[in-house]
Amino acid sequence: MTRIFSGIKPTGHLTLGNYLGALRQWVTVDQHRADALFCVVDLHALTVDHDPARVRRLSRQAATLFLAAGLDPALCTLFVQSHVDEHTRLSYVLECTANDGEMRRMIQYKEKSAKERAAGGSVRLSLLTYPVLMAADILAYGADEVPVGDDQAQHVELTRDLAVRFNQRYGHTFTVPKAVLPSVAARVMDLQDPTSKMGKSHGETSGIVYLLDEPDVVRRKVMRAVTDSGSEVVHDREARPGVANLLEILAACTRTAGDGDVGPAELATRYSSYGALKKDTADAVVETLRPIRERHAELCADPGYVDEVLRAGAERARGLARPTVDAAYEAIGLLPAR
Ligand code: ATP
Ligand code: MG
Repeated sequence: MTRIFSGIKPTGHLTLGNYLGALRQWVTVDQHRADALFCVVDLHALTVDHDPARVRRLSRQAATLFLAAGLDPALCTLFVQSHVDEHTRLSYVLECTANDGEMRRMIQYKEKSAKERAAGGSVRLSLLTYPVLMAADILAYGADEVPVGDDQAQHVELTRDLAVRFNQRYGHTFTVPKAVLPSVAARVMDLQDPTSKMGKSHGETSGIVYLLDEPDVVRRKVMRAVTDSGSEVVHDREARPGVANLLEILAACTRTAGDGDVGPAELATRYSSYGALKKDTADAVVETLRPIRERHAELCADPGYVDEVLRAGAERARGLARPTVDAAYEAIGLLPAR
């Protein structure tokens, strides 16, 4: 059976981008078709300036939202990365497989480190090495597929390179995984700055729709989305990024994954004003998020349930990862512990 691994960092409240680009696909498709592991990758949240209490709170919230969005612990494995030591154990061995040059070439490292420096801060070493830990997350489970938005495609490519290199040097140990990108909404853009991706760590702005935003907040954010001075509704990412983003969000939120699905270009032909497009997009987003918010509130009343799901998930994950990580230790030349 195909094995899938994917994760979300607790660096902020989950956004509409995280849902349309990742979580929804996990819920509607991945957990049904494969042996899927979904992880709150909390160690990755420590690579930039962080508040310990906030990371802990956001980790619990992310796990609760995974369940609220429809992940079913009877169908998939849900856990928190730091609960399974195998990730960091394997990461070190992969650091001994990666080169510093290839790490410095990672686009996210370049962008995030430039941002930290511009803000007068220093750059944590873990920001540079984080794609190696991500490779460990994936390779420890022998994952065949990694569903990600396209901002993560380069990191999955690195994971493949490391797996192939390790296998060539030390003998076949790792499955070489591949990235799977969603067919729609692979890149939801910021409503106030449609040339940059909507990201949960970008600070609370009106350009980001959070999964737990109240309906009136969602409506306000969508109605105030930046478009352009034109008025014709066309789907053109280059010339009209704001309108294209709204059309893509609307297409993603009204999608049924059936034959009757309407893509963003066709949707554009149905509108003659930005106002009508924004209103329908706001309604579609509100309806998409409503059941998630409601279920999240129910789950918050039962924290013991979430804890138990995470405990059982970590136990299963550990059992899957340990043999692979032990094999990697032995292959690279470490004396097995008896
Ligand atoms: P950060 O700002 O901390 O990087 P993020 O919102 O980018 O946060 P991640 O934890 O890096 O979230 O990514 C979780 C998953 O969500 C990944 O599969 C990623 O590709 C996907 N994702 C993140 N942002 C978007 C977006 N704007 N559109 C589509 N998918 C996205
Ligand atoms: Mg990201």
